[in-house]
Amino acid sequence: MSDPQLAPASRPPLMVYFSGQRALVTGAGIGIGRESAALLARSGAAVVAVSRSAEDLFSLSRETGCEGVAADLGTVEGARRAAEAAGPVDLLVNNAGIALLEPFLDATPEAFDQTMNVNVRAALIVAQVVARGMIERGKPGAIVNVSSQSSSVGLPLHAAYCASKGALDQLTRVMAIELGPHGIRVNAVNPTVTLTPMGQRAWGDPARSAPMLSRIPLGRFAQPSEVAQAVAYLLSGGAAMINGVTLPVDGGFLTS
Ligand code: NAP
Repeated sequence: MSDPQLAPASRPPLMVYFSGQRALVTGAGIGIGRESAALLARSGAAVVAVSRSAEDLFSLSRETGCEGVAADLGTVEGARRAAEAAGPVDLLVNNAGIALLEPFLDATPEAFDQTMNVNVRAALIVAQVVARGMIERGKPGAIVNVSSQSSSVGLPLHAAYCASKGALDQLTRVMAIELGPHGIRVNAVNPTVTLTPMGQRAWGDPARSAPMLSRIPLGRFAQPSEVAQAVAYLLSGGAAMINGVTLPVDGGFLTS
C-alpha cells in the first residue's frame, strides 16, 4: 500500500467552498498559480486568471472556466490595469513570481529590479486596487501572497529572490494590520521547493536538490496542489481569525 505521506493525491478532496465569490489569481498560467486558480474554480469561485502567456490562459479557461487576463505585472501600468480588468474581487492570490538565479558577486541591478517589480511591487499594486474596491463596496475579503521559505533563509544564487520574498512577508504583515480593520485578512504561504517549471529550473539538478531534500523532514518537495490547498484554506472562512501569518508549506524545512 502506498504511504500517503510520500505519495500525496494529485487532486485531494475539496475542503473549501467559495460559491458566489470572485477570485483573482496572478501568475495563473502554469505552476502554483494555475493549480490555485483551478482549485478555487472547482470550489465554486468565479476566477479571473492573470498571466503573460495568452496560450496558457486559453488552456486554463478551456479546462476550468476561469476568465483570462493577459498582462505583464512587471510594469506599474500592467499591474494596475490587470487588477482593474478583474472587476470587483472578494479573494486575491498574489502568486506571480520570477526567480532569476545569479551568483551574488555577478548579480545585476536589472535582474534585481525585475525581480522586485514582479515579486513585490505587483503584489502591492494589485492588492491596492482590490482592497480599495472591497472597502468601497463595504465587503470583507481575503488576500494570500505566495512567498517562499527563502524569505527567512539564504539560498545560494538567490540574492534578489530571497530579498524579494523577505520584502513580501513584511508587506503581508503591514497589509494585515492596515486592512484588518476593514475586514480584509492578509496572509502569506511560504512553500519549499515546489515541483513546477520554476522549481524544476532552480532545483532540477540532483547535485543541488539533494542537500535541500536532506533538510526537509518529510523527505520530498511540495506538489503545486499542496500549496494551492494551503492558499485556499487561508482564503476560506475556516481561517476567519487568521491574519498576518506567513505559513510554511515546507515539510518541516524551517524547523530542521
Ligand atoms: P512558474 O512555474 O514559473 O509560474 C509562474 C507564473 O507566473 C507563470 O504563469 C508566469 O507566466 C507568471 N508570471 C511570471 N512573470 C509574470 C509577469 N511579469 N506578469 C504576469 N505573469 C507573470 O512559478 P511557480 O513555481 O508556480 O511559482 C509561483 C509562485 O510561487 C512564485 O511567486 C514563486 O516565487 C513561489 N514559489 C515557488 C517555489 C517553487 O519551488 N516552485 C517555491 C516557493 C515559492 P508568464 O511567464 O506567461 O507570464
